[in-house]
Amino acid sequence: MPRLVRGSVVVHRRRCGKPTCRCADGERLHEAPVLSYSERGRTRFLMLPAADVAAVRAAVERYRTRKGRLEAEGDAGLAALVAALAGRRARPR
Ligand SMILES: [Zn+2]
Repeated sequence: MPRLVRGSVVVHRRRCGKPTCRCADGERLHEAPVLSYSERGRTRFLMLPAADVAAVRAAVERYRTRKGRLEAEGDAGLAALVAALAGRRARPR
């Protein structure tokens, strides 16, 4: 299992299409865990075997944490750059 996975684990609920199946009443639908992710602007889904769901959730969570930290670092760097350049401009030459 990869350490980091981009996307979200969601549960798809749907009918299988068999007219005699329990899901045909539209209430007792089949539930399937999938990884939802975007690729070139399109949302795609990857069916997840039940045995892998927990590990994929954990990898998605690690990705979010890492991404949040990276964005915070990038924001801090941007703020520092803006402040440094503004200070340089304010200084007399
Ligand atoms: Zn069904």
